[in-house]
Amino acid sequence: MEDEELRQKICTKCDFYKEGEKLQCNAFKVNKKLIEEGKITLDEL
Ligand code: SF4
Repeated sequence: MEDEELRQKICTKCDFYKEGEKLQCNAFKVNKKLIEEGKITLDEL
């Protein structure tokens, strides 16, 4: 899954989300890894 697609799914749920920002916090990276490894689904975030 592309980072931009993940950003739409993960970051738009985050209180710190600012449109257009491209930073990746550790929570983003951990969630990305868990999703890529199939340990959680986007619906479980
Ligand atoms: S990168 Fe992290 S802090 Fe920033 S919007 Fe995404 S989840 Fe929130």
